[in-house]
Amino acid sequence: MKGIMKVQKPMHRRAVRLCAGALSALLLLCSTLTGCQGGEPGGETKTDQTGIPGDDSYTYRIDMGKYWSAINAGGSDYLTLVNKSVTVSASYAPSTLVTLDPSYTLYGKEIQMESNAALAAEAMLLELWSYGWTDILITSGYRSYQYQSTLFNTYLAREQEAHPAWSTARCEQEVLTYSARPGTSEHHTGLCMDLIVNDSNPVLDESFAKHPAYAWLQENAYRFGFILRYPDGKESVTGYQYEPWHYRFVGIEAATAIHAGGLTLEEYLSRSGG
Ligand SMILES: [Zn+2]
Repeated sequence: MKGIMKVQKPMHRRAVRLCAGALSALLLLCSTLTGCQGGEPGGETKTDQTGIPGDDSYTYRIDMGKYWSAINAGGSDYLTLVNKSVTVSASYAPSTLVTLDPSYTLYGKEIQMESNAALAAEAMLLELWSYGWTDILITSGYRSYQYQSTLFNTYLAREQEAHPAWSTARCEQEVLTYSARPGTSEHHTGLCMDLIVNDSNPVLDESFAKHPAYAWLQENAYRFGFILRYPDGKESVTGYQYEPWHYRFVGIEAATAIHAGGLTLEEYLSRSGG
């Protein structure tokens, strides 16, 4: 079973649709495994499901059948590093983008992610909802270079208006504390998403960390192949201030190592020689 669950096809051959109708032969193959959901915790089959040796402390609440293959995605495509010093060109785009089901997004807006990351995101969100946190939604995923450029310039104009005495360089410096210069945003990869609390005034800020879902995410996001990309206290490594809402898909194998080691993606890649 382990071999089946870890089958990895090239990204460009994937045509994964998020809509529930996409039941495939894979799901049939997985059906024997999903029967174990809620079964004996710590059973041998669970280890086979997750591919995490010895990790038997968690029982998934949702039917993970159609998600295992996506969550087990791995390799260099999923470890792409984009930060302030490692940039992408204006022409860069992920190979396979899919549109998320609008029921998972804030205001039902159209958000795209890389296909496996999108499936993993759906699984993690459904798991969050199963705990009653149905106010957690996805507010951003893939952003094109052009979009990031527009966003950056909008923030810059806002800072200039708020601080008329500041030079453009000073205003840019300010914007760079919370937004990426075009070419330096991980959102270009299609592998990350921003989660948000859908309350009366949904905003992306550190208040996300006060939601009970955040504590759960800190413990369990890796089980869905995601890491908290900009942890508190790691600004000097990631170049970004703490973002409790920003989750990056790296696949469950890397996510498990990163979680266990308390690492950032930068630290993980440098240790693994990547
Ligand atoms: Zn983000």
